[in-house]
Amino acid sequence: MGTVAGNFVNASPIGDFTIFFLALDSTITLRDAKAGTRDVMLNAFYKGYKQLNKSPEEIVSSVHFTLPSKNTRFNFEKVSKRTYLDIASVNSAIRLELDGEVIREAHVSAGGVAPVPKYLANTSAFLVGKPITNDTVRAAIKVMNNEIAPISDARGTSEYKRLLLRQLFFAHFLELFPERFTLKELVATPPYEASADKT
Ligand SMILES: Cc1cc2nc3c(=O)[nH]c(=O)nc-3n(C[C@H](O)[C@H](O)[C@H](O)COP(=O)(O)OP(=O)(O)OC[C@H]3O[C@@H](n4cnc5c(N)ncnc54)[C@H](O)[C@@H]3O)c2cc1C
Repeated sequence: MGTVAGNFVNASPIGDFTIFFLALDSTITLRDAKAGTRDVMLNAFYKGYKQLNKSPEEIVSSVHFTLPSKNTRFNFEKVSKRTYLDIASVNSAIRLELDGEVIREAHVSAGGVAPVPKYLANTSAFLVGKPITNDTVRAAIKVMNNEIAPISDARGTSEYKRLLLRQLFFAHFLELFPERFTLKELVATPPYEASADKT
């Protein structure tokens, strides 16, 4: 059990709700009894490992995001060692706004691949204006690999986490567009570049 705000402020780099709400492009409201309230984009809330854009007195009082429309596609994926009640090795969420066959707006997030719950700004920007095709997904993974920096720990090596995130990214598109994608085609030309980060 836990609360949404507790998950945000706990600041685990793999907090599930945090990753979920990052892809919703959420804003949170911080309230201080003396100083009043201010709004912060959730993707600007994390300054470093367990370091927040928040004073000790401020509490998270609400979270805001744009409600999905008929053109919205959203998906969340998580890999963990146990089926239930387990912190993820890597997790990821995606929100796409579609304009016919083209991605009009994209927000992608990933946990377990950086010191903070990561909003994948470059990957998100890359997807905008692109058609929903195998080539787009593969090219986006190259961008993604350049903006993550997973570390090796008890949940897996750095390279393994890169591989997991690639698989979760495939899973988003397989889940959201089952009529357009097959795993076989997505993995046909592996875009995975293990050399991107050896730390
Ligand atoms: C066995 C176990 C399994 C777990 N598995 C998962 C998992 O699968 N996925 C996952 O995401 N996480 C998992 N976690 C970690 C989990 O993310 C955190 O423990 C939980 O999200 C914290 O939420 P909480 O509501 O209990 O917050 P608390 O532990 O009560 O608070 C966490 C911090 O946030 C502060 N805080 C709480 N609410 C507010 C607020 N409104 N404003 C400002 N500060 C606030 C508290 O003061 C504290 O510093 C697991 C933890 C355990 C122990």
